[in-house]
Amino acid sequence: RAKRSAPFGLCHISEEGFKEFDRYLDIKSKLEQAIEHDELSIVLQPQVTHDGTVSSFEALVRWYSKEFGPVSPGEFIPIAEESYAICEIGDIVLRKALNVISSFMKNGLNTSIAINISARQIVMPDFVNTLLSRVNQFGIPPNMLMLELTETALVVDIELVKETMLELAKFGFRFSIDDFGTGYSSLAYLKVLPISELKIDKYFVDDIGKDSDGKAAQIVDAIIEMARALNVSCIAEGVESEEQLNYLKAKGCEKFQGYYFSRPEPQAHWEGLQKNTKLP
Ligand code: C2E
Ligand code: MG
Ligand code: MG
Ligand code: MG
Repeated sequence: RAKRSAPFGLCHISEEGFKEFDRYLDIKSKLEQAIEHDELSIVLQPQVTHDGTVSSFEALVRWYSKEFGPVSPGEFIPIAEESYAICEIGDIVLRKALNVISSFMKNGLNTSIAINISARQIVMPDFVNTLLSRVNQFGIPPNMLMLELTETALVVDIELVKETMLELAKFGFRFSIDDFGTGYSSLAYLKVLPISELKIDKYFVDDIGKDSDGKAAQIVDAIIEMARALNVSCIAEGVESEEQLNYLKAKGCEKFQGYYFSRPEPQAHWEGLQKNTKLP
């Protein structure tokens, strides 16, 4: 790879590095506009029970930029997290999710929605009040929302996060630990947090049936055991095959999410959903 290397080893940035930095600056500068110009939307991925019934959805943000085309959340969320932009995005996703819940409820569907909460959001002083005023504004019971936090978000300021979670739990909001197994949380403090669900990371689900020594499967077993020990429910993300599903079912995992059932789709795709619809 070509390098624009300065003499005396002062600066070694590859062409690639320059391109990446340009892209970073582009995204960072256009994100604010995207927020103002309503370029953000959500898609919904179903979470199903053992018999394939859709019990809830995860809302995932999408950015279709007029300039760049679709930009994946994996790319722009970390950039948004560097500033207050992540809070604005969080509020947009929250309002869109509440809108979906209320339209589902009108159709007689009681599907709750999971939304992703960033570390920076949960430590904002007005986080609890913002959530409360939004659910009141939309007339949605807080228990229809599952707030997904990663282990990394928990450990940023565990005391503050714990207080915030306990406060929200009093009102009925529920919490799921996203990408579980990839972070640093210990059983000791998971025990003191008001958690309803552990979400096994796709990374471990991917290897079910694939890894020769069965280590991934053992980790999956351990996480399901941990959920049991904490008396919380367990969901697996990134389920793509019947083999993975059967393994997880046999081990007692309660809910599943992944391409095997459905990709995340816009609200319109789910409008015809009935109470007894079974996936896949
Ligand atoms: P996540 O919360 O762990 O979401 C799961 C990701 O896995 C999603 O990617 C989803 O589309 C993808 N996925 C689900 N099932 C499968 C599968 O079977 N196979 C494969 N290959 N992928 C699957 P997505 O939508 O690109 O989101 C990536 C990450 O961006 C999310 O990971 C989450 O951390 C973050 N994110 C997305 N929306 C939001 C949001 O509204 N707020 C915040 N703070 N973060 C968000
Ligand atoms: Mg998530
Ligand atoms: Mg996840
Ligand atoms: Mg994940």
